[in-house]
Amino acid sequence: MIYRKFQDLEISWLAMGTMRLPDSEKSVDEEHVQRMVDYAIEKGVNYFDTGYDYHLGKSEVVIGKSLSKYPRDSYFLVDKFPGYNLKNFDKVEEIFEEQMERCGVDYFDFYLFHNVCELNIEKYLDPQYGVRDFLVKQKEAGRIKHLGFSAHGEYDVLKQFLEAYGEDVEFAQIQLNYLDYRFQNAKAKLELLHEYGLPVMVMEPMRGGRLANLSEGQAARLKALRPDESIPAWAHRYLQGFLEVVTVLTGASSLEQLAENIAIFEEDKPLTETEMATLNEIVDELMNENTVPCTACHYCDGHCPMDLDIPRLLGLYNEHSFTGGGFIAPFVIRTIPEDKRPDKCIGCGACQLVCPQKVEIWKTMGKFANMLKK
Ligand code: SF4
Ligand code: SF4
Repeated sequence: MIYRKFQDLEISWLAMGTMRLPDSEKSVDEEHVQRMVDYAIEKGVNYFDTGYDYHLGKSEVVIGKSLSKYPRDSYFLVDKFPGYNLKNFDKVEEIFEEQMERCGVDYFDFYLFHNVCELNIEKYLDPQYGVRDFLVKQKEAGRIKHLGFSAHGEYDVLKQFLEAYGEDVEFAQIQLNYLDYRFQNAKAKLELLHEYGLPVMVMEPMRGGRLANLSEGQAARLKALRPDESIPAWAHRYLQGFLEVVTVLTGASSLEQLAENIAIFEEDKPLTETEMATLNEIVDELMNENTVPCTACHYCDGHCPMDLDIPRLLGLYNEHSFTGGGFIAPFVIRTIPEDKRPDKCIGCGACQLVCPQKVEIWKTMGKFANMLKK
């Protein structure tokens, strides 16, 4: 196992995610999870990530139980405040105590403000809910060893959060992979985190499995460069080039999948320049699939009679369309005033006249509005 430094700790480069554990009929297969945890520990994994609603709360219980046979200081347990549900904001203390009880521990090694995004940023920053104050107090009391946050939101939200709480957090968890470096502006987010001196925990290294399923032609080009490497391994080799990355959350739904993942993390083999160039060509191809070629040049600004933020909406369309759904775009759309959403496009075509990329904007707005209805 490769290890990376976080302060004075040695963290395994592979972090075991527990959002998609093996289950049957909605109940987590505890015996299977125990075998996975035993295998992970035997192979040197020491970072285990859970969440309040994963498997309807069972993930915390099962992972806590599976780890309980090991000395408490031999692994790092990670949990999060579930701020993606706005109803949780006035229950921070109750939820934290429940999480401790479910996991059967008296401290968390790492604890995060979960999923800071457009939908909840105001609540996270609102002192009346006291989320920050409560978590900082838990840290002072030793019940949280390291405080951080995870974010799926856009760059501006990240900035807003850091301007308020940059002094309180010690790490950030963001979506980073070879597609999102450009597609979701992860490059700019990394630069911002660097300004605050924050190490990075990576989520979605495989973009929900999409990067493990390249076309035959794309896979063949990668195989020609590294015949012995699997396609999923490329996503991890790519991340090995980022020195600010401490660990990579990798979900597994079976012992077999976990073993495959762990095997990739036994060696540090970052990509060469030639390999990066090939990968970037593939990224270009992926970004053209089901997306529109908006470059966010803003030439269309001021041309829309409905005053829609066209580049932003198209960026969200691209995210939603490429992902084949997902929660990110709908989350952000809910924070946009109703009269500025895609369905308010009247199809006048004024924007298209100035668009250098010839994006079929009104058609895309209509398509996006229909996708959001589903
Ligand atoms: S086509 Fe739609 S987005 Fe474009 S200017 Fe007209 S109303 Fe605005
Ligand atoms: S003019 Fe075209 S490419 Fe530029 S921001 Fe508007 S839609 Fe995007």
